[in-house]
This record gives sequence, structure tokens and C-alpha cells, in this order.
Amino acid sequence: MLGQLKPQPEDAIIELMGRFKADPRPDKVDLGVGVYRNAAGETPVMRAIKAAERALWDSETSKSYTALAGDAGFHNAMADLVLADSVESTRIAAAATVGGTGALHIALELVKDAAPNATVWASNPTWPNHPPIIKRTGLRFAEYRYFDADARAVDFGAMMADLQTAQAGDIVLLHGCCHNPTGANLTLPEWQQVAALLTERGLIPLIDIAYQGFGDGLTEDAAGTRLIAAQCPEVLIAASCSKNFGVYRERAGVLLAIAADGPTRNVTQANLTALNRLNYSFPPDHGARLVTNVLNDPALRADWEAELEGIRTSMLSLRTQLADELRRLTGSDRFGFLAQHRGMFSRLGATPEQVVALREDHGIYMVGDSRMNIAGLSTDTVPLVAAAIAQTGI
Ligand code: PMP
Repeated sequence: MLGQLKPQPEDAIIELMGRFKADPRPDKVDLGVGVYRNAAGETPVMRAIKAAERALWDSETSKSYTALAGDAGFHNAMADLVLADSVESTRIAAAATVGGTGALHIALELVKDAAPNATVWASNPTWPNHPPIIKRTGLRFAEYRYFDADARAVDFGAMMADLQTAQAGDIVLLHGCCHNPTGANLTLPEWQQVAALLTERGLIPLIDIAYQGFGDGLTEDAAGTRLIAAQCPEVLIAASCSKNFGVYRERAGVLLAIAADGPTRNVTQANLTALNRLNYSFPPDHGARLVTNVLNDPALRADWEAELEGIRTSMLSLRTQLADELRRLTGSDRFGFLAQHRGMFSRLGATPEQVVALREDHGIYMVGDSRMNIAGLSTDTVPLVAAAIAQTGI
């Protein structure tokens, strides 16, 4: 039986990490994998998470099972973080999941059960995991244009034109903030227009929010999601805690499903509980509990927000430094988009050959579509990276 399995290509980013490791050049720069790194190149445990972990070690008396949908305290804390008061809590069903990826899986399985003929629309480009996860559920997959490759900006007209062709009941996958891989995001007036189109055409938003706090701030990054939640009768939201709480390996995430009314919410909740049970019985609790305790303790929360803000502003200043350096070296403003983009990533717009040249000639590693992880830069490496980009003629 196992001999019938097809070989699987190695994950492109994991392969890139392997190549980077094997590269002996001391001044190599890793702009590949989507993990935050500080100026020392480390991905530290956040201070508030460490403190919450110490306190939990003292206070936790049992590791018995929690609830199939996860802990209600976690649902509430995350609903508050993502949605604030944009929607009545009596309309929100929730399930703790295995990271943001698990939340996407549960969301799509819920769609498959409720609307098996729906098409799921994703931006082109999108996080490379989205299309295969969607296709795996057996749901139909379609793409809407999103990125103007020349301007390195959102092609909003094309996006809206494509979504006009979606059928009532179709699902529209949106990045809540910090679009991965492009770094180009909708403005608030654009979110408003998307919300109007979704309601007008009876489309259902599935918002993937994996970087809240990495773009313009915790509140600002949730503004689009909150606007949609306030206006659309049904909304699915897959939120990841991996990046903004730095709990990557703990696998903490939540699916929030907003229903049109209380009774539908209750049926939805029962379905989410059943889906969690089918997939893994109980979701992981440790990371979710740390997140809950940080969000609910005013001192820990303040410290977490301060550290997250430091992360956000350090990425912003690296963006500005890189854009400035490239303006100086090239005498042109064509890299100004780097300072306009938000989040951990920007798509540089290099050809695959130029990506190889950056790697082979300069030891600069980025994903094949020229997505660069801004957090992989440091104030010391920006001049090297800028010089390499300018020399490569991008
Ligand atoms: N969505 C997007 C857009 C992402 O970039 C990621 C992480 N790379 C995820 C979801 C999933 O995050 P995780 O499963 O690690 O919580």
C-alpha cells in the first residue's frame, strides 16, 4: 500500500533553510522563513509569555483534558483581541485549534459540511499553504487578482472585478493584515468596499489573521476584520497566536465563527466541537492558556503589548532604512514600496534568476517568488542587502 504513495516535493522554505545552513559564507543573510527575528537573529520567548509560563508551572495542578472546543476563557480573550466590540458575543462560536493552520482546516471543513458546492476564492498570490489546504477539503478553488507586480501594490480594481464574478454563497479568503507574501494591504476605505460587495453579493468572508500587531498596531491591524464583522451576517476568522505571541511551536490558534443569530451560533458551536473531536479530540492547551493569561492580566498584557510594539517598530525602521539606502544607491524611488508595505514580508519583484543570483553571488536567501522576510534584516546587514539588490539590477 505505502508503495502507491506519490513522492512529495520538499517544502520550498524548509529546503531554503537547509541551503542557508550549509552556506559557509560568514556574511550570508536569511530572508526566507517567516519567523520573527530580533537584531541578534534570535526568536526569543516573549517576556510576558515566559512570566505566564512560570506562573502556570506553579498554579497548574492538572493536565487533564479541557473541553473539545478548547477553553472558553481563550475563546473570549481572542474574540476580544480580534473583534473588540464589533459584534455581539452571542453571535460568536469558537474553537481552539492547532495554530492558525488548524483554524483554517476547521473553517474549511465547516464550509464543506454547510455548503459543499461553494467555491473558495483566495488572493493571487497568497500564503502557499492556502490553495492546497482548500483543495484538500474537496471544495472548489478559485483565485482573485490581488497584486500589481509592477507597482508592488494592491490591484484593487482587478480584485473587485474578479470578486464580482463569485456566486452567492462562495467563500472569500482575505488576509486580515500584513498580507503574506506581498506585504501590500487594503486601506480602510477599500475594506469598506469589500464589505459592501460581500454583503451585496451574499459572499462569505474567511479572514486569516496571522500577524495582528505586526503592521500598524494591534487595533489598526484588526480594523478591516472588525469592519467586516460589523457588517456581514456570517464571518469566519482564523486567528494565529504563533507570531504576535511568539508561541510558534505551541500551536495556538482559534477559529471564530460569527453567525447571523444566537440559535445558529449554537448549532455552529456544536459543529465546531464535533470537528475538533473528529480531527484531534482536544486541541492543544498550553500555548492557548499562556495567551489567555497574558491577555487577562493587566501587567502581563501591558508588557506583551510593549514588546510587540517594539517588534513592530523595529521592522518598520528596517523597512525605511532599506528603502532609503536603495534610493541612495539607485537614485530612484522605485523601492519606496518597501516602506509602504506592512508586516513581516515584502515581495521584492525580482525574477527567479535574480533570486538565484542574490543567493549565489551575494549569500542573500529569499523565497523563489522574491518574498523577503524583513525581520531577517538588521541595521548592519541592510547596506549589504541594498547593495546586492542594486547590483543585481532589480
Ligand atoms: N496564515 C498565514 C498567512 C501565515 O503566514 C501563517 C504562518 N506562516 C499561518 C496562517 C499559520 O500559522 P500557524 O499555523 O503557524 O499558527
